[in-house]
Amino acid sequence: MTPLEVLNKIYGYKTFIGLQQRVIDAVMHNKNALALMPTGGGKSLCYQIPALCKDGTAVVISPLISLMQDQVYALKELGVRAAALNSLLPPEILRRTFGQFMRGELSLLYVSPEKACTEDFLQILSRVKISMFAIDEAHCISEWGHDFRPEYMQLAVLRKRFPQIPVLALTATADAVTRKDILKNLDIADAEVLTAGFDRPNITYGARLKDKEKQQLLDFIETKHASESGIIYCLSRKRAENFAEFLQTRGFNALVYHAGLDAASRQENQNIFTKKESVIMCATNAFGMGINKPDVRFVVHMDLPKSVEAYYQETGRAGRDGSPSDAMLFYGAKDIVQLRNFIEESSAPEQQKKIERQKLNTLTAYAQSAGCRRHILLNYFTEEAPSSCAACDNCLTPPETYDATVNMQKFLSCVFRACGDGFSFGAQHITDILLGKQNEKIEKFKHNTLSTYGIGKDLPEDDWRLLARQAVVMGFAAMDAEHSSLTLTPRAWPVLKGHETVRLRKFIKPPKKKEQKKQKQKAELPPSDNNLFERLRRLRRGLAEKENIPPYVVFSDKSLLEMAALKPSTPQAFAEINGVGQFKLQKYAEVFLEEINADSQAAPRK
Ligand code: ADP
Ligand code: ZN
Repeated sequence: MTPLEVLNKIYGYKTFIGLQQRVIDAVMHNKNALALMPTGGGKSLCYQIPALCKDGTAVVISPLISLMQDQVYALKELGVRAAALNSLLPPEILRRTFGQFMRGELSLLYVSPEKACTEDFLQILSRVKISMFAIDEAHCISEWGHDFRPEYMQLAVLRKRFPQIPVLALTATADAVTRKDILKNLDIADAEVLTAGFDRPNITYGARLKDKEKQQLLDFIETKHASESGIIYCLSRKRAENFAEFLQTRGFNALVYHAGLDAASRQENQNIFTKKESVIMCATNAFGMGINKPDVRFVVHMDLPKSVEAYYQETGRAGRDGSPSDAMLFYGAKDIVQLRNFIEESSAPEQQKKIERQKLNTLTAYAQSAGCRRHILLNYFTEEAPSSCAACDNCLTPPETYDATVNMQKFLSCVFRACGDGFSFGAQHITDILLGKQNEKIEKFKHNTLSTYGIGKDLPEDDWRLLARQAVVMGFAAMDAEHSSLTLTPRAWPVLKGHETVRLRKFIKPPKKKEQKKQKQKAELPPSDNNLFERLRRLRRGLAEKENIPPYVVFSDKSLLEMAALKPSTPQAFAEINGVGQFKLQKYAEVFLEEINADSQAAPRK
């Protein structure tokens, strides 16, 4: 079969996406290649399809056992002969797999890097017909990268022993140093380097200032992702645990992942997250590498991460299957202060601190921007980006801004007058002064005699609280991390002197739940189809449980959505659904068609 035929018949996909065609062409012509493609860009097909078109077995080096296993499940569901070799397998399975491999019965064999470089394995390789080597997560070979794996360095031996077998290296990490390391350490200087854009069009980016964070999180999940899987990133272990507890009390299946848990619990939670639907993982940034779940529908940050790189990588775990997904950032004055303190208090040299300050400022600016978020992100990675995208909060609902200069002046000048002589106060007290309140603290410090006492009565208390946070976020005021007390920074003076105007975004109240739900349904499917979609999900869950495989291996969300929209009634029509190949057609057409038919009888269309 040709690559296109394999794509159509085995995978049930109509066309190649992104770089796939070009990468596959290179491999089919026995060229060495390095493919840099974003998460969700469809890297696996780049070696799986040539593996199915060429004679012999493709040997795939993959760093994590869980990743290998997922791939093998998925391939078996397509009727492809694939297996994995790793140190955790029982001896009889290992023996059987070796047997199949040596008899040339496998199209693909996944191997861990340490296994691939043993003399035993190299010996076997010289006796079997090998179609290609695919090096997945190839950035692990670079000491520069964040996932360096010493075992990957040994892979050069494959090249030495089998220089005639083509190598395809794949990664989602694109920076120049890593790229050079890969080519050098794999000794494939002649490789064709293919780079895809790093845009993730199916992810909708958004950011909100924290106000009542738990409520904001709940609104976000309930309105858009009530029964879906997602990741919630927090700055600390404690917060990850708190959010998990909170979500559990609200009836969600929420788990925790951070470096403070023992290895077994971490592994167990990650397994549940990958295998089950509707699981929310509350985690620190320790939850990262090896999350191969394609149907993560949302990634929420409850605190600001350290840099745009970290943010983009973490949000990239959403929507690998290409279906619409959300990346939402909740940021606040406190986390910015905390991150600023981390930097200042670290023992890093000044030069390093300067870089980190710069990185944090860039992300802070991203969070506050009223412009297209995707534009900012892609621009940061020096990629040409259109100035609007129609898939970020600011493009979808352009934010209203207003001139807040006078209010900011009032606020800052109140901070200036109240704080001093060794005393400083938090936002609440400053707000009380502005509102002209009477209380013990105000009496004690005689703050009712300040010229700013009562000058803010025209603005509600909530708005002042918000303005206080914005003052910190924008860097006009500094906040002491321990007592939350405020002091002015040098940046306050241009505002106080009237040299700088301040425009602020209006605070966005989350829309009423019902309204949003309706909007979402309109954009995707009519209401009755959502019922069918839920029915199909239940069916899929049952089938997956029976075989002990993750539901997405049976069919992706995208395939189910398409079924729910097109309601195929014959096997021919079912075969037209994206993701239905020959093997799945045989295996699943009957049960799914039955379900679709049962649904239309239960709820006849008007
Ligand atoms: P990556 O490893 O680059 O993150 P994957 O190989 O896991 O990406 O593919 C991401 C998702 O896109 C998978 O669900 C895969 O089945 C799907 N996919 C890959 N290629 C195509 C294609 N040509 N058409 C439709 N869907 C595709
Ligand atoms: Zn946009």
